[in-house]
Parts: sequence; structure tokens; C-alpha cells
Amino acid sequence: MTKQTCLNCEQKFSGRSDKKFCSTICKNEFNNFKTQNCQTKQTIKKINQLLARNRRLLEQIFSRKTPELKSICRDRLAQKGFCFQFFTHSLTNRNGETCYFCYDYGYRLTSKNEVIPLKKQLEDL
Ligand SMILES: [Zn+2]
Repeated sequence: MTKQTCLNCEQKFSGRSDKKFCSTICKNEFNNFKTQNCQTKQTIKKINQLLARNRRLLEQIFSRKTPELKSICRDRLAQKGFCFQFFTHSLTNRNGETCYFCYDYGYRLTSKNEVIPLKKQLEDL
């Protein structure tokens, strides 16, 4: 018999050399944690993808050539796949309007439900 170290509780136990856990409880605990950890990663990945898509859409509109084209109807933007519930941060501008950001690109909404894209320099974030 050799002494093994349990992968879950890190206590020494005696058993076959291929045994990884001191008990069934430890084995289950360890595997449950692994599953939860995997789900957390997937959730974060999904939200990051949504934020990146939002940012890309804001960048596209912001980069348009003429001022008239630099705004978009809220519904139109939603149709393009913009997810309004996800943003990285928000701030209030000098006029008291709330601006929502996805990383360095953001927007504010006009009273006519037009989305006006904004860009922040890295040093202003
Ligand atoms: Zn254990």
C-alpha cells in the first residue's frame, strides 16, 4: 500500500496507486466543481461574444462617413443583433444623459429612440 494524496481534500490516504480520491464524497465534490467551473467559463465566453458583437456594431456606425449616417434607430440596431442589456459600463455626460459602453465604444439614446454612437479614448476610460 502506498500513500496517495486526494485530489479534492489533499489529505493522504492509503489505497491502490491509481486511486485519486480518499472517498466517494471527495470524488463527487471534485467532479461537481469541475462541471460548475466549465459552465461558468461558457457563460463568460457567451457574454464576451455578445459584448464584442455590440462593440463591433457600434464601431461600424461610428466609422460611417457622413454625420447623417452616424446614428441608427434603436430597433434597427437590435435587428442587426445588438443586445441592449449587455454593456461594460455606463456614465452620465455633461447634459445628464446616460451613455452605455461596450469597451471603448458606446452610445446614447435620443428622445426619438435614435442610437448615437460614441468612442472613448483609452486614457478616458
Ligand atoms: Zn478527500
